[in-house]
Amino acid sequence: MNDACPVCGLVFEREPGYFAGAMVVSYAIAVPTFGLIVVALIVAGVDAVVALVVGGAAYLVLVPFIFRYSRAIWLHLDWLIDPDRGSPVGK
Ligand SMILES: [Zn+2]
Repeated sequence: MNDACPVCGLVFEREPGYFAGAMVVSYAIAVPTFGLIVVALIVAGVDAVVALVVGGAAYLVLVPFIFRYSRAIWLHLDWLIDPDRGSPVGK
């Protein structure tokens, strides 16, 4: 991830540990996604234990996307609640 937006200059990490909040967003995306995969496999007739293992492996493919989107969603939520008027974007 870039330190700042190459277009508008927004510094993404507003403070140390800023993206810790993105872990909550990541969890909120990951749990339903994993659950949907496992339930879909069980409904398709796969054994529950096998569905958990296969679902976990399938979920790993999605981890890079969830990681990036959770940060982007966190940024949007945070700027929606607490816009920084002093930054290049807020002006
Ligand atoms: Zn930008």
